[in-house]
Amino acid sequence: MVDYAQIKKDLEGIAVEDHPALVKQKSRDFYWYSPILKSQLDNVTADLVVSPVTEEEVIRTLKVAYAHGAPITPRGGGTGNYGQAMPLSGGIILNMANMNKVKQILPGRVIAETGVIISELDKQTKAHSGQELRFHPSTAQTATIGGFIAGGSGGVGSITWGGLRDLGNILRLRVITMEAEPRILDLTGWDLQKVSHAYGTNGIITEVEMPLAPAYDWVDVLVGYDDFMDAVRFADTLAHSNGLLVKEIAPIAAPAPFEYFTRHKPYLKEGQSVVVIMVAPHSMGPFEALVSRYKGDIRFRSDKVESMKGIPHAYELAWNHTTLRALKIDPSITYLQVQYPAPDHVERVRKTVETFPGELIGHLEFMRFDGSIQCSGLPMVRYTTAERLEEIIRIHEDLGCPIFNPHRYTLEEGGMKQTDVVQLAFKRETDPKGLLNPGKMIAWDNPDFDFKAGKNYLFQGLAAFM
Ligand code: FAD
Repeated sequence: MVDYAQIKKDLEGIAVEDHPALVKQKSRDFYWYSPILKSQLDNVTADLVVSPVTEEEVIRTLKVAYAHGAPITPRGGGTGNYGQAMPLSGGIILNMANMNKVKQILPGRVIAETGVIISELDKQTKAHSGQELRFHPSTAQTATIGGFIAGGSGGVGSITWGGLRDLGNILRLRVITMEAEPRILDLTGWDLQKVSHAYGTNGIITEVEMPLAPAYDWVDVLVGYDDFMDAVRFADTLAHSNGLLVKEIAPIAAPAPFEYFTRHKPYLKEGQSVVVIMVAPHSMGPFEALVSRYKGDIRFRSDKVESMKGIPHAYELAWNHTTLRALKIDPSITYLQVQYPAPDHVERVRKTVETFPGELIGHLEFMRFDGSIQCSGLPMVRYTTAERLEEIIRIHEDLGCPIFNPHRYTLEEGGMKQTDVVQLAFKRETDPKGLLNPGKMIAWDNPDFDFKAGKNYLFQGLAAFM
């Protein structure tokens, strides 16, 4: 039995919360997007929330938790989708949101504490020197940079820069180990892969160094098409247009835009699919020429509306905000995460659209992947049963479209992160008692786990690179 009353005493001077309702509130993330995770995780809660404001406080907390054998689950903004930040074994939620200083802004990079909200980080780098993060999740207004690195994959800007899995998109992470005497590690190069998208299972990130790109006053544009596949073909052509600078390209099928994008509804046409796009101001002229050639219908542009008051950013219609907006109107909706590998991604999309009429509502995100343009999808699913969901996944895989399953809470079953001997050795070294976010890494809990049993992983294992 862990003595949490004693832990609280040992942490005197550090902010600790033990009110059950408040602790439960900080023990949730957006797991409820999945009806399956909702039924599995609804009762999960921690015992304490500890909110350090300095790295010294993080180290002290880890030391005390280690001595008492208390699990630690780090938390940023709590916007993860797969129960990533939920404490399966109870214990301590380590709330990193108060470590939120931007420390240094340099040409092409920024050094910041882990808990800074992403939009605030962008605001500061833009004001300082006209720079911004290369890409961010659509949750930029609420998610932390450390939570994005530990739990996310890519987002708005990935059309140019790829994702967190790509070398160079994270420069350095400062990580604290979970040992009797916690150590500070500065990770760079391939070593970053040990911690990125690892759900905080092998170290607590306290500081990040991220690359920056030139900032623009991006223009939000919604282009309508009567046929979803016309929208997809236009999106693909735009994504391949070398001279046009865009930050986001997301085709979204009817009826979603008109039914779910309530603030944009006055501008939209019922029955139309739209492509959600962010365009650099100096690219607007040539962009319009392309839209005209592809017979698109520009329904909305943020530089032409009288006021943007009450109208969300275009990126908050995309990525997993699309699903959120759908869920607000129709709670029976859930979603999948699909990859449509290049070069025949458009044809693969067409096949899946044809296979599930009325059951799946198309949503694609164009991005740069291993040097090529391809698309991923977050199709909305009209959920019926867990068995049918599994069947839909199987059919996608048979069509050559791998699924990153958002209805699983372990790293391996989610399919984005490959664990292997190197990853496991790193965890043994940095978390010998297995106290960091327990239950999220199958390879740790099951020594017979077959690393090769999985299929295609977004964040590849490290053994191949060492
Ligand atoms: P949290 O949810 O708090 O944590 C995420 C994971 O990181 C957890 O496992 C947690 O334990 C761990 N963690 C947090 N802080 C630390 C730390 N300091 N050290 C070690 N581990 C830590 N994801 C994308 O990649 N792209 C998107 O565009 C995107 N859009 C989304 C839209 C919506 C509406 C929602 C609900 C989710 C979306 N997500 C997206 C998922 C999620 O928002 C991102 O992963 C987000 O960046 C997580 O940040 P956070 O601060 O909320 O992290």
